[in-house]
Amino acid sequence: MKVLLAENAGFCFGVKRAVDEAIKTQKQFNKKIYTLGPLIHNGDVVKYLEENSIYAIDINDIDTLTKGDVILIRSHGVSKKIFDDLNEKGLIVINATCPFVTNIQQKVNKFSNEGYKIVILGDEKHPEVVGINGWCNNDAIITNDGSFKENLPNKVCVVSQTTEKEENWNKTITNLSNESIKELKSFNTICAATEERQKSVYDLSKNVDLMIVIGGKHSSNTTKLYQIAKSNCDNTIHIENASELPENLLENKNIKSIGITAGASTPDWIIKEVVKIMEGL
Ligand code: SF4
Repeated sequence: MKVLLAENAGFCFGVKRAVDEAIKTQKQFNKKIYTLGPLIHNGDVVKYLEENSIYAIDINDIDTLTKGDVILIRSHGVSKKIFDDLNEKGLIVINATCPFVTNIQQKVNKFSNEGYKIVILGDEKHPEVVGINGWCNNDAIITNDGSFKENLPNKVCVVSQTTEKEENWNKTITNLSNESIKELKSFNTICAATEERQKSVYDLSKNVDLMIVIGGKHSSNTTKLYQIAKSNCDNTIHIENASELPENLLENKNIKSIGITAGASTPDWIIKEVVKIMEGL
């Protein structure tokens, strides 16, 4: 039996940077620190962080913090208003927004100020998209599949959630090109890490009998990896960690090769554990 790990899998640059920043910040202040929402969508990492005095806090509970408390903004980023509110409360704000997300926020801010209607391809409920929208007066048109119900104005600037699928981006651009828009600024802001992971899982899942996708159940990028793998390999499972591997995974199935991949918020130690267990079978 062959066990093959996707060429690009696991922690991306932005997530690793945010986790490292949280650990460094906690050591620097040597007290409890808070992250606005879970730092990443992975229960095991959240537990690891709590063991290191790093706790997630919901925006609705922010009033429980007092002046001088330290709060870290995760890689998804937040709206300008939230930055302003946290600073106004006298909190020490550490910005661990992924630089690729900051770039999108700056673009929508600039072009909305220049009179462009902002279009975001993405999930309107995803914190990254909510945050980006907060840099253009919460006035963006958000589409999750590139289709539009509303009439679009003459000047449009379109960006994408970093974890979107290329095919959705292409559809969005095609649909916008068919509208009577006079000026269209388009920035394909799908992150390279996302593309690399999606391409790797696409290639790998075509050539194996079983695919295991590791990552948080609420992780957008992991869910997309799962969908891509499933489209090529019907025998695909999504697990959060090794403890979720089904006991009868290989029973009565003619499995000769297993592919493994992991979302951008899955740490190395979880991937290694799954690889080790599968190699042992
Ligand atoms: S997926 Fe890309 S944009 Fe998102 S945190 Fe990772 S490196 Fe940054």
